[in-house]
Amino acid sequence: AMELRGRRVCVTGLGVSGPPVARALLKHGAHVTVVEGRDDDVNRERARTLRELGATVELGEPTTLPAGTDLVVTSPGWRPDAPVLVAAADAGVEVIGDVELAWRLRPAGQVWLAVTGTNGKTTTVRMLEAMLRADGRRALAVGNVGTPVIDAALADGPDRWDILAVELSSFQLHWSATVQPHAAAIINLAPDHLDWHEGMEPYAAAKAKVYGAGTIRIVNAADPALRELAETHGDPAAPLVGFSLDVPRAGELGLVEDLLVDRAFVANPRTEATELATLADVTPRAPHNVANALAAAALARSIGVAPEAVRTGLRNFQPEPHRIAHVATIDGVDYVDDSKATNAHAAAASLAAYPSVVWIAGGLLKGADVTGLVRQAASRLRGVVLLGADRHQLREALDTHAPHVPVVDVARTDEGAMAEVVAAAARLAQKGDTVLLAPAAASMDMFTNYIERGEAFAREVRALAG
Ligand code: ADP
Repeated sequence: AMELRGRRVCVTGLGVSGPPVARALLKHGAHVTVVEGRDDDVNRERARTLRELGATVELGEPTTLPAGTDLVVTSPGWRPDAPVLVAAADAGVEVIGDVELAWRLRPAGQVWLAVTGTNGKTTTVRMLEAMLRADGRRALAVGNVGTPVIDAALADGPDRWDILAVELSSFQLHWSATVQPHAAAIINLAPDHLDWHEGMEPYAAAKAKVYGAGTIRIVNAADPALRELAETHGDPAAPLVGFSLDVPRAGELGLVEDLLVDRAFVANPRTEATELATLADVTPRAPHNVANALAAAALARSIGVAPEAVRTGLRNFQPEPHRIAHVATIDGVDYVDDSKATNAHAAAASLAAYPSVVWIAGGLLKGADVTGLVRQAASRLRGVVLLGADRHQLREALDTHAPHVPVVDVARTDEGAMAEVVAAAARLAQKGDTVLLAPAAASMDMFTNYIERGEAFAREVRALAG
């Protein structure tokens, strides 16, 4: 592990990763200064707690690097052009993220299995965790939900985790340098966060950093661009294992009719195939989610998890809320909450899972182009209800590419808006349809986050059910 005693470390950001990172650094004997731009009640409280532990905390727009800093641990969301980070780069001071720090400080022998991609990361690491536990391993999924990665990695003694199933964002990977998962999967790649990464190529390059030295490269082989990314990045000496919804070739995982099959982690991939599970074991049973299950299975199999444990894990897996969650069936119409579909790629995946849909969409599009999504979905749409700030862009795309589809525009943004949205969707829906909240957009124009948006939807649906 790296030596931190007496070093002067600057932590940027008091959000999700900052406080646990600062505590870990203090525990390792570093002098810690935390800088945070927003001087509000929440951050003043967090600052007070950290000061009691011995940290220096500076609230208010930070522009210079604290004197003597010899390492910066940044919150992953901070852009590289933030003045403090530019100052560090100019001074030749190393800047790393929370994940890189966790990697360097983890106990010897702890194994990491990593997942990245635009959508499905949380689902995949949680499926993987279920498989590992069914195999009797002491494993934990970390990333967007639950325990911060730094806390999970550093837990020691009886609390120590032998295996971490780590979800990695493009931001975290941007700020990583030496992380070497045993195996890592890239599950998909679609435009997202391009404002931060300044384009698709740097975004893809950041994702490819998930393949470290020696890391087994697992990749969604259905996407030729991803396969090429895996072929050209990472350790050329490390195995490359594709997965897809097709019949697997030697060295791949895939589907044979309704069976999930492994032809990679078997004694002789040329002649041998191991049956892992059936489609009925995968919930929710949407095509993209079968891909997530195969990615998780590949990671589990890379460390020798038994086929039966893959199946038991999938059966034990409980989906996270607001990801294709069935809320109610009213008059033969299913109401489904996929509020976590915050970009076009995720919305396209859930729309593809239903033949006839009343689609609820809109919010903040973050500069994304929605014409492809609308063109793809057009033939499945019974109707559309639009809400939120950027609904006009969706309206334009619908008028052009789905002119036959009735569209209801909900202009209000107050607390009553969701009731109007659900009422309009119920009027459009016919027996056998699915009313699907898959906004293809972020929620912050009307809600605190996707969770509140999903809860508002579920509340109104239940009210409708009576
Ligand atoms: P992440 O952690 O990457 O945000 P989640 O598992 O939380 O991913 O799922 C986010 C959204 O993406 C959900 O709306 C879900 O329906 C959708 N999704 C999940 N897996 C996939 C996939 N493999 N491809 C496309 N969309 C997906």
